Amino acid sequence: MNIQTFPAAPFRAEPAADRPSREAAEAAVRTLIRWAGDDPDREGLRDTPARVVRAFEEFFSGYDEDPVALLARSFEETEGYDEMVVLRDIRLESHCEHHMVPIIGRAHVAYLPAGRVVGISKLARVVEAYAKRLQIQEKLTAQIANTIQDVLQPKGVAVVIEAAHQCMTTRGVHKHGVSMVTSRMLGAFRDDPSTRREFLAMIGGQRWQVEG
Ligand SMILES: [Zn+2]
Repeated sequence: MNIQTFPAAPFRAEPAADRPSREAAEAAVRTLIRWAGDDPDREGLRDTPARVVRAFEEFFSGYDEDPVALLARSFEETEGYDEMVVLRDIRLESHCEHHMVPIIGRAHVAYLPAGRVVGISKLARVVEAYAKRLQIQEKLTAQIANTIQDVLQPKGVAVVIEAAHQCMTTRGVHKHGVSMVTSRMLGAFRDDPSTRREFLAMIGGQRWQVEG
């Protein structure tokens, strides 16, 4: 089997040396608890700063992932397979960069191979690597599509994300049951209406209008 490896691009926005210590992060959580009006030293809250910092490590683990490297191992031995590859209903958990509250939804990712394919779990991991950061949904959608296009160089890439933003549902306008849909269509998915229609049918029909 022919495995191609591509060099990984830099992916961290900030050099690791600029990262504050765990103690500093926990102290910041204590400050927020006090600012909210509670006592960080009472029994129920005593371990909360440490727990919050551990939760942040999970929520924002994407900063330590390199999405380009995730796609670097691709396979050319595909018996000429050149039909659409679609991964749908990928669970999406992200955080809005304006309020740092959850964005929960699902992503659908497709590409049209041009001789190279990747393991299907790698597509889900690319979604996660970008989702586990501070995000806006538009940028998240574009980053996933652009990375797959740049690294795999397929004939086209399509990404659709539908998600609810807790900054809309639990604060501010308090709009429940509202989800936001974003899409990024590249190559054949942008240029060929029948390819786009086939993809939209595969991920659930005409529930939404997708702009090119
Ligand atoms: Zn927000």
